[in-house]
Amino acid sequence: MTREVVLAAVPQGMPRESDFEVREAAGAEPGDGELLVRNVFVSVDPYMRGRMTGVRTYVAPFAPGDVIDGGAVGQVVTSRADGFAEGDWVQTMLGWRDVGVVAAASANKLNPDVAPVSTALGVLGMPGLTAWVGLVDIARIEPGETVYVSGAAGAVGSAAVQIAKLKGCHAIGSAGSDEKVEWLRSLGVEAFNYKTAQLEKKIDVYFDNVGGDQLELALSKLDTYGRVVACGAISRYNDPAGPPGPRNMGFVVTKRLRIQGFIVTDHFARFGDFLAEVGPWVASGELQYRETIVDGLENAPKAFAGLFTGDNTGKMLVRVSLGACDSRAAEPPSVTG
Ligand code: NDP
Repeated sequence: MTREVVLAAVPQGMPRESDFEVREAAGAEPGDGELLVRNVFVSVDPYMRGRMTGVRTYVAPFAPGDVIDGGAVGQVVTSRADGFAEGDWVQTMLGWRDVGVVAAASANKLNPDVAPVSTALGVLGMPGLTAWVGLVDIARIEPGETVYVSGAAGAVGSAAVQIAKLKGCHAIGSAGSDEKVEWLRSLGVEAFNYKTAQLEKKIDVYFDNVGGDQLELALSKLDTYGRVVACGAISRYNDPAGPPGPRNMGFVVTKRLRIQGFIVTDHFARFGDFLAEVGPWVASGELQYRETIVDGLENAPKAFAGLFTGDNTGKMLVRVSLGACDSRAAEPPSVTG
């Protein structure tokens, strides 16, 4: 038997723990070309909220009764595929469950000697790629530009502000607590708490993780020919019918702004280039990262809801088991660099 977390009801407004259910399921056996994997870390991500609205966007919605699939890191228990052995670390899309079967072709083998395995879900995984693609391919940042990142103490945002700085930009970040702001300042980033202060400077690029009021304010601060990277709009995910806005779209015309959205899955072909540039920065500590680790699969809904109340600094992860074959996974990787 194994445990899995399913959507019990489409959340109305803020997701609640009662919108999810932990259930027992029969364990599956891997067939040819498949792996049985025990999860160690599972990811909770803001985009999952968009899959809980009952509406198809760029990806199919979860229906009540569906297991919440998503990024996960675990160890192979049984391999029926060439190139994988018991104990190997893999990154999969197994989602919120203890154990599951995946096609070996869909699993990425991880080398725990190169980087802590949890980073495959954060700074060296999808969120890190999102930050890098947004700045390099979408905004096309240039040294000397001023780049403002909202949600700057989160998984994507903390990578984005630091990549901007490492690429010779003046990086400004906002976050929702003084502790998060202190961390950003310790990284050499100009930072402020958006609950008590607001952006004052002229900017060339706005990397938008939040939408709503912050987008409106950034439009007013963008310089002529400025760019907006529309990465996310977390302030609206639980209130899609909220107030209309921004009210100052006229700036797009008068300042000749470019606003471009993107979805990171369209850019997976850039993963090698991303790792070649960002991997060494992470290894040397020039680019730092944090992880907020919640223990227990049953706490995945709580961790997920915490994304919308700012409970995380850096990447929010749920640790569902201790690595059976590698004691390094038993230690929370918390902070490096
Ligand atoms: P984070 O690690 O940034 O976690 C979410 C953070 O958002 C919280 O910690 C909180 O920080 C902040 N937040 C929550 N509610 C609000 C609000 N109402 N107003 C302002 N800030 C809020 O998550 P990710 O790094 O994984 O994702 C960041 C953004 O990037 C999201 O919008 C997400 O949807 C988007 N994204 C887009 C992708 C793409 O392909 N386009 C891919 C991956 C992510 P605080 O304490 O500072 O408020």
